[in-house]
Amino acid sequence: MKKWIVMIAGAMLLGAINSACVGKEKTKSDAEQQPDRTSQILGQFSADSAYRYITEQLAFGPRVPGSEGHRACRDYIINRLEGFGADSLMIQDGIVTAYDGTKLPITNIIAGYNINAPRRILLAAHWDTRPWADKDHDSGNHSKPVPGANDGASGVAVLLEIARNLAIKDPNVGVDLMFIDAEDYGDDKGFSDNEDTWCLGSQYWIKQGMPPYHPENLPVYGILLDMVGGRDARFYYEYFSQANAANPTIKVWSEAENINHNDRFIRRVGGGVTDDHVFLTRAGIPTTVIIECLNDQTQSFPPVWHTVDDDINYIDTKTLKAVGETVLNVVYKEKRY
Ligand SMILES: [Zn+2]
Repeated sequence: MKKWIVMIAGAMLLGAINSACVGKEKTKSDAEQQPDRTSQILGQFSADSAYRYITEQLAFGPRVPGSEGHRACRDYIINRLEGFGADSLMIQDGIVTAYDGTKLPITNIIAGYNINAPRRILLAAHWDTRPWADKDHDSGNHSKPVPGANDGASGVAVLLEIARNLAIKDPNVGVDLMFIDAEDYGDDKGFSDNEDTWCLGSQYWIKQGMPPYHPENLPVYGILLDMVGGRDARFYYEYFSQANAANPTIKVWSEAENINHNDRFIRRVGGGVTDDHVFLTRAGIPTTVIIECLNDQTQSFPPVWHTVDDDINYIDTKTLKAVGETVLNVVYKEKRY
């Protein structure tokens, strides 16, 4: 999807108001947690490996729920996680009903690392792709599926490369990697009254009680990755993230600054987006989203968003590297308790 909740003019205004709030929260958080300001890159995030995981997903074709490519990609993600030594694997199959009445077979997957740690964090990405390129400049393409190199495969690829690292070196904190289905089957007509038509996989998971968690052992926060591989992408604070999940938002953007990725992570609000982080936050896991939502050219999502041009040619390994190194550093700096 996803849809602008806050138009740019509004976002600027809200940004001005809320950057003050973020600043205040930052001071409090810093004092409490004494963040590690070292600029060492922790782990070995390979952007080339992440790029390969994107090409492997694209080889299945579109990953629209119910399609052959979707089934193949489901098995691919599970196989990769098994190969990367996940301590636990939760595979949640289900059926959801899309806004147009279509029944969609979906699968949410959660891989656990360091499962005996008393404190956990959640990293998430959606793995499905949109069935319609309804933002394509050519209306003849509107009923075709998007390739989903950036919108779908990029977030999954970064998570898989993080999994490969976690298999080599344990984090101090418990880390769960969640691959969410059916994010992108939503109704893009109208403006603000169709939020629930998006993010069907995360909504299903929440309705089913958020397995494998119990209410008393939810992850302390979440980081959602969506459209994290675009050419020259820059990532601004997302409106709902900085308003409702300030702690992980500050952690991520501060860490980007520590390791000199502040050319990519900009500490200003870029706009508001409906995505899985909104539902996860409401369900009790304050979650920030890293998403390109203030592209220089469009002043919104990247130009290939929901078009047939969201293919491998748009993927930028420098972007994957900035995001992957930043998130992996957050993970490895996180304390056990
Ligand atoms: Zn999308």
